[in-house]
Amino acid sequence: MADVAYRGASRVFAGTPPVKAVDQLDLEISDGEFLVLVGPSGSGKSTALRMLAGLEDIDEGAIQIGGRDVTHTPPKGRDIAMVFQSYALYPHMTVAENMGFALKLRRIPKDQIKAKVDEAARMLDLTPYLDRKPKALSGGQRQRVAMGRAIVREPSVFLMDEPLSNLDAKLRVETRANIAALQQRLDTTTIYVTHDQVEAMTMGHRVAVLKDGLLQQCDTPRTLYDAPANAFVAGFMGSPAMNLKTATLHPDGAHLDGLTIPLTTTTRTTLDTDTITIGIRPENLHLTTTEPGITLTVDLVEELGADAYVYGTTTADTPERFIVRVDSRTPPTIGQQVTATLTTPDHTHLFHPTTGN
Ligand code: ADP
Repeated sequence: MADVAYRGASRVFAGTPPVKAVDQLDLEISDGEFLVLVGPSGSGKSTALRMLAGLEDIDEGAIQIGGRDVTHTPPKGRDIAMVFQSYALYPHMTVAENMGFALKLRRIPKDQIKAKVDEAARMLDLTPYLDRKPKALSGGQRQRVAMGRAIVREPSVFLMDEPLSNLDAKLRVETRANIAALQQRLDTTTIYVTHDQVEAMTMGHRVAVLKDGLLQQCDTPRTLYDAPANAFVAGFMGSPAMNLKTATLHPDGAHLDGLTIPLTTTTRTTLDTDTITIGIRPENLHLTTTEPGITLTVDLVEELGADAYVYGTTTADTPERFIVRVDSRTPPTIGQQVTATLTTPDHTHLFHPTTGN
């Protein structure tokens, strides 16, 4: 077990112009923590993970594992185990051989390898499949073998790069819960890369959000959701996405398509513009027949069991689309005109219109 730290760590790829895939990353991960790196494609997640694994040079700064500087240590000397998206199983070996291979290379006695493989197989429900070859397994079973191979090595740190991306949606949900439970049981520091914000929110103790190689915010899923540091994080975390709109500033507050949102004097004095970006989560809007609000023409209703999400467009010259959560038993119909209003005005999120901060 070990803690992990990125200290101003950068990776620059040559080219015209050069790409700073990871830009002076500062991040500390505690011993036993499950940290998720999330961000859109190309944001530098895989590069950050590969830097930790020793598969990518560190052009600036340093990386520590267990308090030890490993910036120039080859992968073998880092005491990590990586689970790849592709699983990278050996097709000619059985499940047991695949899982025990790294221990065989370390010349660990056969009976000890068998004991460790059997134990990992029990944890992962793989005992009946130990003599099978990977081609005779389902996608979910292969994924578990890849996990098993990492577990038997008893590393200080697990690194996982989109390990669920080859599974179908239902299995992905099941497996993410299993991985989170397993991590808790093993208590091994884990860094997990995904582009899926739902996966990040449900699995991570903390989630680090990256954009263009820059760390935007690292915090618990709850804090990222309730107090996003900037408009990018606000828009990226949450499904469906937060409504992010430009409002104009007036003496009585911010005006947004028929809504007036009161602003505190602190907010007013820190803004030096006449507009503001306002973030409103779909669950902080509701439909009303009595209160003033935003007039919308419904163009889509997404029913999700208990709730439904109504997508509606304003009738302004430049129409804006809003998403409103409603009770699925009484959704409006497509084409209907509705009025949406704020449920809790002080739960709106305010960002600078140009910097997004
Ligand atoms: P993510 O995992 O978030 O999708 P990556 O870490 O794979 O992002 O990539 C970050 C940036 O670095 C992207 O712009 C990508 O094109 C670039 N990049 C990644 N690997 C290489 C490479 N080997 N050579 C050149 N550019 C690369």
